Amino acid sequence: MRRFSPGDLSIELPAVADGDVRAAVAAARGAFETWRRTSLDERIVCLRAAGKNIASIQDDLVRGIALETGKPLTEAIGEFGAVVAKVELAVADARRYLPDTVEADNPRPGVVRRRPRGVAAVIGPFNFPVHLPHGAITAYLLAGNTVLFKPSPFAGGVCGRYGEAMAAAFPPGVFAVVQGGIEVGQALVAHPAVRAVHFTGSVAAGRAVARSCVDDVSKDVALELGGKNAAIVCADADLDIATSAVAEAMCLTAGQRCNSTSRVLVDASVEADFVDRLRVALAAFVPGDPLDPATRLGPLISAEAKDRYVRALMTPGDWLVRGGGIETVATAGGDIRGHYVTPAVLRVAEAAARHPLFAQELFVPLLTVTPTRDDDEAVALNNATPLGLTASVFTRDAARFDAMADRLNVGNVYHDLPTTLSPGTLPFGGLGHSGNGRAGGRGFIRFATDEQVIQRRK
Ligand code: NAD
Repeated sequence: MRRFSPGDLSIELPAVADGDVRAAVAAARGAFETWRRTSLDERIVCLRAAGKNIASIQDDLVRGIALETGKPLTEAIGEFGAVVAKVELAVADARRYLPDTVEADNPRPGVVRRRPRGVAAVIGPFNFPVHLPHGAITAYLLAGNTVLFKPSPFAGGVCGRYGEAMAAAFPPGVFAVVQGGIEVGQALVAHPAVRAVHFTGSVAAGRAVARSCVDDVSKDVALELGGKNAAIVCADADLDIATSAVAEAMCLTAGQRCNSTSRVLVDASVEADFVDRLRVALAAFVPGDPLDPATRLGPLISAEAKDRYVRALMTPGDWLVRGGGIETVATAGGDIRGHYVTPAVLRVAEAAARHPLFAQELFVPLLTVTPTRDDDEAVALNNATPLGLTASVFTRDAARFDAMADRLNVGNVYHDLPTTLSPGTLPFGGLGHSGNGRAGGRGFIRFATDEQVIQRRK
């Protein structure tokens, strides 16, 4: 399949050939017994060497992410920084969670050990093509698993480059990239020798992955899926903080983050003021060339994503900010063509929970704004979708925040911060249809092993 850069359709991306799943699994399986018997210290030496290899190809990775996904350069630099930082975070997690634990409060000496599962498959999305898979990859490797990484076909080139840098630091067969699309992903997760699957992507694909593993009851499946994340703006909120957080979380990666803000639930008493300020904040997000360091809003990933956005704009209703598709943006070298769009905001006041744009993840910079009577209604509306990834609450009252956080059915809640924050130093994972809560961020290594309980007579 020919691929073009979403930010400049005149740039053809290099072709990436599909991998051979059977051969890759056989190699990973062959390497497993030796790898699981290497000490944690030796595995850490390999991972740190991989980190150095990755750091040495910074420019390739940053430019590759921006070219292939259309993510603005500044965001691609952020992703690269998170990848490098992950190495020491993974080491700290391994030292914290992998050692045996002695259970003293039972009649005979008992110990819980963590054993690697075997071959792990990591399936990645396009929007954080390196960083998100890398979190799972580093955890599985340090825990003694061998790993096969199937990147998003939208980012096969840059993920292949990352894969070379990683693989060079480990013994043969311990880590490899298997390129391909849905069929390759399906073959990988369904392979009986693959004992653990870490999947990041849409709910529909996550369901298909879970279905293909269900008969193999002991295969571990970690799912990090979609979001329909709300910013809840209380009557006492600092509206400057709230509007800048909402505009940013709506427009980063052009709304294509699992934790993007796509709904605002605002107390009716401050709605008009909030909307006025939001319009001002959004004016800073003008579509531009992702390779320009000044760009804050890049293109969507594909023509299909742009069509989805344009169709959504045809929904009748009270559009507070009229978005639109853009054919070209200007660069120093002349106009370029790409999948560009502008932010859009729709007011959804009546029967919000049943409105299609309120409930569905669209993965574009489109926001619904819904006025609420009180905190109870805001919580109820937040919880009205089956997705439960992140939410932000804007209020000057810490106790009010705590009370609301407790009632919000989401995995990550932020106080006066954007829904997109999710630092690599904390766990990250969704409830409901957003995943099965197997932390996507810090601490995922807890799920990268099986537990074995040892008990002795004395
Ligand atoms: P996608 O579901 O289209 O694809 C994700 C990956 O799964 C790709 O590598 C794809 O080739 C593969 N795939 C698709 N169907 C498969 C199947 N049946 N079996 C095996 N592999 C299969 O998602 P995308 O468009 O790349 O990413 C966007 C989605 O990912 C959004 O829904 C977003 O919310 C979600 N996401 C979630 C998180 C999180 O941490 N919760 C993070 C990033 C993205």
